[in-house]
Formats: sequence, structure tokens, C-alpha cells
Amino acid sequence: MADLTSLVRKNILALKPYSCARDEFHGEASAFLDANENPFNNPYNRYPDPLQWKLKESITAKKKVPSTHVFLGNGSDEAIDLVFRVFCEPAQDNVVAIAPTYGMYEVSADINQIEYRKVHLNDDFTLNAKKLLAATDDHTKVIFLCSPNNPSGNLLDRHEVLHVLENFGGIVVIDEAYIDFSPETSWIEQLRHFPNLIVLQTFSKAWGLAGVRLGMAFASPEIILLFNKVKYPYNVNILTQDLVLEHLQFESRKRAWVELLLKERERLISDLLKIAYVKTIYPSSANFVLVKVHDANAVYSYLVEKSIVVRNRTNVILCEGCLRITVGSPDENNLLIKVLKTYNESL
Ligand SMILES: *Cc1c(COP(=O)(O)O)cnc(C)c1O
Repeated sequence: MADLTSLVRKNILALKPYSCARDEFHGEASAFLDANENPFNNPYNRYPDPLQWKLKESITAKKKVPSTHVFLGNGSDEAIDLVFRVFCEPAQDNVVAIAPTYGMYEVSADINQIEYRKVHLNDDFTLNAKKLLAATDDHTKVIFLCSPNNPSGNLLDRHEVLHVLENFGGIVVIDEAYIDFSPETSWIEQLRHFPNLIVLQTFSKAWGLAGVRLGMAFASPEIILLFNKVKYPYNVNILTQDLVLEHLQFESRKRAWVELLLKERERLISDLLKIAYVKTIYPSSANFVLVKVHDANAVYSYLVEKSIVVRNRTNVILCEGCLRITVGSPDENNLLIKVLKTYNESL
């Protein structure tokens, strides 16, 4: 890759970050009179740890990376936005991303006034690394990959991803929001070989904590320092830090949920295949399936009428006629199948 400093926006390199009271003093004290906090209403009166060290230690013990390689934010969405703010010069740089994929990369690009170049996946949603690289130029700072990909559900081929990592001089983001549902190992293991790699993971899916908002970015310590410099000083509140710390003790519960959801996914797929107007179910390594049906808009509206909400993706590139269906609880899945079976009768 190119030298990291040549990829970073000049104003960010030169930035002197806000120094908060808790940055200057670490440890226990008899009286904390440094941050203009209210002495009452313990423990909520105190500002949270700006770098979330305790939580990071607990996470990195499981992920087997040092804490210096981890950024924690208000969902993965915060890390996505930081990628733009740290590396991409507005109205000058561009990023390249696969399409279709998660919508936030493009929204963040638009907010930061960065050109967003979409490279279509193949018709079966596989990645062509050469085609992706051909869309880059001297102003391409970042490539966005997502594996397993949303909304298609498939894992990107490791050799194609590797080809991107080995041949692109900028930053490569691999979003692994659904990695817990997939048989593949995380790209986190490859961090030491690729100083330009940023891996995103989240507590929003397998951990069942979407409402709590905690996202993770794994990267070289140099990149993490840049993220820390630019983020809001207290970006993860006390309630989130404490609650996630507590949940990390019950990883077996998460594993049991994943196991159940994977079983339910297979059951859902086999039931869906029995429905005549279901044309294709794309292979999924995530907790959802992309399903091609005859007249997606009509099926979508019918489900809404019956008070079941799925995601209509029919207007998304390569997803014509497709609904994205999240694997729910056994009861929710039974209800979905029951209602879908009555759809033809309603015509
Ligand atoms: C759901 C999802 C996320 C999660 O974002 P959070 O801000 O952590 O909730 C990230 N990336 C992809 C591809 C997703 O589908």
C-alpha cells in the first residue's frame, strides 16, 4: 500500500484533537473535580471512558487482537463515517464499492461529498476483483467490501478479496456484520499482513444488541489512532459500555441463538422452495435470505397487509423481483410461511 500518511487528509494529519479531562488523568482519586460533573447521581454523573479500555480488553480477549487494533463506536455506522472523514478529501477523492451492498457507504459518501463508484457484482453476486480495481484511479482512497454481503447474503470469494488487498494502494474496508452466521474465519486474522485493511463488526446482529449501538473496527494501531483523534470524545456512553461488557460473559447464549437461527434459515428455505411463485433463493451465509418471487411488489404489499414486514429490494441493482427476508423466531417464520401460502388464493 501507499504510505499511510499520504492517504490521510492533510487537515486530519495536522489536527490537534480535543483533550478531555479524563485523557489527562487516569486512575482512582479521592475527589474528581476536573470535569465539572455533578457529584450526585452516581454512576451516571461521570463521563464515560473515552477509549473504553475495559470493554476493549474483554472484546480483544475473544478476538485475539491487541486493544491497540480496536476502535469502538456508536454502531458500525460511526466507523464507516470516520473512514470518509479521515481519508477522503471532499469534492476531490472517490471511493469504490461493490453493488449491490449495504446502503450506508453511499449515504456516508454523499454526506461527506465524496464520489461513490459502484462496481456491479456478477449476476450470482460473486466478486470480480479485476473489474473492481479497474474502477479505481489516483483519487480512490477506499474500497468497500461486505462479506457476507447485504442484501445478497453470500460470502465474497477469499481469493478475489485477497487480490484486492494485494493490488490496491489505498484502504480496504471489509464489513463483517454477519460473520457470526458464516462458516468463514474473519479477516481480522490477516490484519498483520495488510496495514491497509479495516475490518468492521457489530453487536447489532448475532449478539442481539442493535438497540444498544456498539460497532467495532479492527485495523492497524496507526489507523485506530486516527479514528480516535477524529471521533467525538465520549462516543460510547456508560450504559452501552456496561451492558455489552455484561453480555460478553454469555457468549454461549449468542452461540445458541446463532445455531437456532441457522437451523431456522434452512427450514425457511425448504418451506419457501415449496411455494410456486418463489423463483430463486440465493445462497446465504447470514441471518437473512434474498428471495426472488413473481411480482415482488405485490407479495410485499400482501405481507404488509397481513402485518408482516420484509425488505423489498426489487429496485436495487441485480435484485429485481427480490425480497430480503430476515430469519425470525420459529413462531415468526411459521407465520410468514403460513401467510405466504395464502397469497395465491388471494389473487
Ligand atoms: C446491519 C449492518 C451493519 C450494522 O450497523 P450498526 O451501525 O453496527 O448497527 C453494518 N454493516 C452491514 C452490512 C449491515 O447489514
